[in-house]
Amino acid sequence: MRLSNFFLPVVKDAPSHAEIASHQLMLRSGMIRQSGAGIYSWLPLGFKVLKNIERIVREEMGRAGAIEMLMPTLQQADLWRESGRYDDYGEEMLRITDRSGRDMLYGPTNEELITEIFRAYVKSYKQLPLNLYHQQWKFRDEIRPRFGVMRGREFYMKDAYSFDLDEAGARLSYQKMFAAYLNTFHRLGVTAIPMKADPGPIGGDLSHEFLILSESGESAIFCDKAILDVPVPGLDFDFEDQDALAREMEKRTQYYAATDEKHDAEAFARVPKERQIAARGIEVGHIFYFGTKYSEPMKATVQNKDGQLVDIHGGSYGIGVSRLAGAIIEACHDEAGIVWPASIAPFDVGLISMRPKDEATATACEAAYKELQAAGFDPLYDETDERAGSKFARMDLIGLPWQIIIGPKAAEKGRVELKSRRDGARIECSLVEAITRMKAA
Ligand code: ATP
Ligand code: MG
Repeated sequence: MRLSNFFLPVVKDAPSHAEIASHQLMLRSGMIRQSGAGIYSWLPLGFKVLKNIERIVREEMGRAGAIEMLMPTLQQADLWRESGRYDDYGEEMLRITDRSGRDMLYGPTNEELITEIFRAYVKSYKQLPLNLYHQQWKFRDEIRPRFGVMRGREFYMKDAYSFDLDEAGARLSYQKMFAAYLNTFHRLGVTAIPMKADPGPIGGDLSHEFLILSESGESAIFCDKAILDVPVPGLDFDFEDQDALAREMEKRTQYYAATDEKHDAEAFARVPKERQIAARGIEVGHIFYFGTKYSEPMKATVQNKDGQLVDIHGGSYGIGVSRLAGAIIEACHDEAGIVWPASIAPFDVGLISMRPKDEATATACEAAYKELQAAGFDPLYDETDERAGSKFARMDLIGLPWQIIIGPKAAEKGRVELKSRRDGARIECSLVEAITRMKAA
């Protein structure tokens, strides 16, 4: 993409209402624009990041056997009356009446809707297990929307729902999501720690929130540092290996990790002092087993092996896809701006022409632009006529992993300057070598 053809409305100063770094940086780099309290447009740069996060989430859900679909944002109130949640949900639910006076709502979550779909088609244990998910906008009329996309009112979520014949089956489905989440966050370039969370009315141990350590986080967290050293399952993990699934969970649950809601000061005190982490974190995912909470009132039953009708056991698994854009910036930025993990960067490399009016420079840049694309990279080519200083500052601000800088001197020698955004290291080399280095990283 040529910068002059792109829409990148970078702004100089951080708006005063933006309290945390990620919110400031998203506004400054022209990723998002507020449209109402807790409601944002995703401008082209931000949209690319959102789509990259969505793609990685999709790939990892698929690896774990979940099947993608799409449910609407608007739902019928009657479904929520069946589960009893229409009255329970309270002020966070945006309630709407259509022209015929029918009560509707903008979905804050989808347990009811997916249960309705399930019960319409699935009648036998032979069709289980099943895990269906979608990535869709949600609306919650949060009392205090803040921190930009981190606590929005309209936000983008991946929500998966598992259906199993019994609790043992549901545990396996849960463990698959647990492992898939570890791989997902790892690929997104962050460490998210699974922490014991409130299991709700059913009790038990099958509820975990995944949190990224960050001072700007809304949750106080307590954990054993050792949990950070446990390697993720990895992309060759076998999701059909039941022992391996159980092990992945045990490897982590052996260590203390809880948010303030579930914090047990006595248990935490038993963690060796030097390994105790008391910090803050951002919740980026939540997995949850809820048994027959929806299947029972909504009559989602299947026939078991003996021909009896039984309520299915369900779980739900959320990831805050839009929140992640902000959360990742919280974890990945410096004085100069964002430092994207390569996996979700909006472009792979920024190509900066130092002197577009100089013929040798322009020729070298045009050639580099084409060669980068041919090598499989998605470059952002700054061929604008601005001051070098402001071009550098803008490229640093938007945080692409690499910059290739070409000025008249280098162009003459057939060289380029390759800069790594992460550590700021610059080397002079040929374009071919720059491409090799970027590929190897
Ligand atoms: P929180 O405790 O942050 O309010 P929650 O427990 O209500 O979240 P879930 O219902 O578990 O959230 O939703 C799944 C995921 O969706 C959360 O882990 C979070 O990443 C994301 N999420 C929830 N509420 C918001 C919001 N208002 N804005 C952006 N993302 C959100
Ligand atoms: Mg939660």
